[in-house]
Amino acid sequence: MASSTIAIEKTVPNIICGVEVISDSARRLAVTSPTTGETLAEVPMSTAAELDQAVAAAAKAQVGWGATPLKDRVQVLFKMKTLLEANVDRLAELVTAENGKTIPESMGSILRAIECVEFACSLPQIASGSVLEVSRGVECKEHKYPLGVVAGITPFNFPLMVPLWMVPTAIGMGNAFVLKPSEQTPLSAIELAKIMKEAGLPDGVFSVVNGDREIVEAICDHPTIRAVAFVGSTKVAKLVYGRGTASGKRVRALGGAKNHLIVVPDADPEMTASNVVASATGCAGQRCMAASVLLAVGDVDHILDLVREKMAALVPGRDIGGVISQAAVERISGYVARTAENGGKVILDGREAACEGPEGGYYVGASIMEVNGPDHEAACEEIFGPTLTILRVKTLDEALDIENANPYGNASAIYTSSGLVAQTFSRRASAGMLGVNIGVPVPREPFPFGGWNDSSFGSGDLTGPPAIEFWSKTKKITTKWTAGASSNWMS
Ligand code: NAD
Repeated sequence: MASSTIAIEKTVPNIICGVEVISDSARRLAVTSPTTGETLAEVPMSTAAELDQAVAAAAKAQVGWGATPLKDRVQVLFKMKTLLEANVDRLAELVTAENGKTIPESMGSILRAIECVEFACSLPQIASGSVLEVSRGVECKEHKYPLGVVAGITPFNFPLMVPLWMVPTAIGMGNAFVLKPSEQTPLSAIELAKIMKEAGLPDGVFSVVNGDREIVEAICDHPTIRAVAFVGSTKVAKLVYGRGTASGKRVRALGGAKNHLIVVPDADPEMTASNVVASATGCAGQRCMAASVLLAVGDVDHILDLVREKMAALVPGRDIGGVISQAAVERISGYVARTAENGGKVILDGREAACEGPEGGYYVGASIMEVNGPDHEAACEEIFGPTLTILRVKTLDEALDIENANPYGNASAIYTSSGLVAQTFSRRASAGMLGVNIGVPVPREPFPFGGWNDSSFGSGDLTGPPAIEFWSKTKKITTKWTAGASSNWMS
């Protein structure tokens, strides 16, 4: 696990009007590296007054930015894409240092983020509005306008990628954006701000205000902020959705997940096992798209044996990165320790895995638990670690009933070689993102990202074409020009 070659300031600044500003707040948290346990920096919890300053600067900058032609605005995004590509190694090191992912995982997350920038580069082609002659001499024209100042609140698990789900389309559409990154991983956002400045983004169009609950609530209540995108746990997504919409904002809030993968007997054993293991343990299981429950339909023991073999071979600190904190290690280990309560059994105990990471890092090995019913805590709560809970069922119907009854709805997948089984699953599964023989079914741009049920609050999805609608408002202009217009201009 490499440490970052990016110089990390001891105190994480805010970015207000394009300038690094250290918050006056005495309330500060340590940013620790999950790979080593070392303190990387301290991050002040900004005050509502500091948010006000950022929003005021953003509102001022937005006037000129919003009036800049779309084709000119996206030139900044083209440059930003080039700069992100040029800096991908350094940025991956930084994401690994503050989040704990392995370097290839951090690299992968940045490449996916760049796809979101590419999508926004195409805005002149897909968001230029429309015009139609609706009656003789009468034209209707629809044109998209920015909302003004908008905000994003992001989680710890993808410190660069999740902000880039939001920022490119939001600023491409002419808004000024205020980001409140996770207080656990605030460093990547500062590098992002530097890159955007270097790309030529006018000062104030992108701001960063660090903090925790107080700033999130101030964002929700702020009268100048017109829209908020949130990504994080379901508990906070609900709070942000309720509070933000109560103050008249558009809110799109993505929440937590408990993803079910269904394995049927005709699934290809090797491909299925590799794919399930990658889904459950990639990014140390700290992904909202991670496999969490494996619904084993009928006799699939030959596949479960392979899953166990592959998971047992994973070494924390080498194949599995660190989890975000020591508290997370204890939370994940707690689920494994309590498995036997309510009749479950531990098939693979990650707490016993030998670790190759540095001494103080927050590592935990991969665990497999088998439980008797969907109400077992390991089968219904979001664990957010490298674990897999197996639940045996007799039929596909039973599997789908369990998947449908779980309150979340981010992702689900099936492993089968039957088109009919895949089609039945696709029609009946109750989740926004489905995979057939693929365990992390993230839709690639331009297909939008977003779940259902308790994984999502507000309408539409967060990326792709729905993001254009979310970050803009439309003006509909009806124009009549007739041959006698000069003498008939009031009719
Ligand atoms: P979190 O909900 O604890 O934090 C997310 C953001 O909310 C952070 O910026 C944090 O400062 C803020 N926050 C935390 N508690 C708050 C409170 N009480 N009031 C107001 N604001 C608060 O989430 P996390 O632990 O950073 O991230 C992990 C969670 O995010 C998991 O549940 C995961 O499934 C989810 N997630 C979902 C998606 C998705 O697309 N659905 C993507 C990534 C992560």
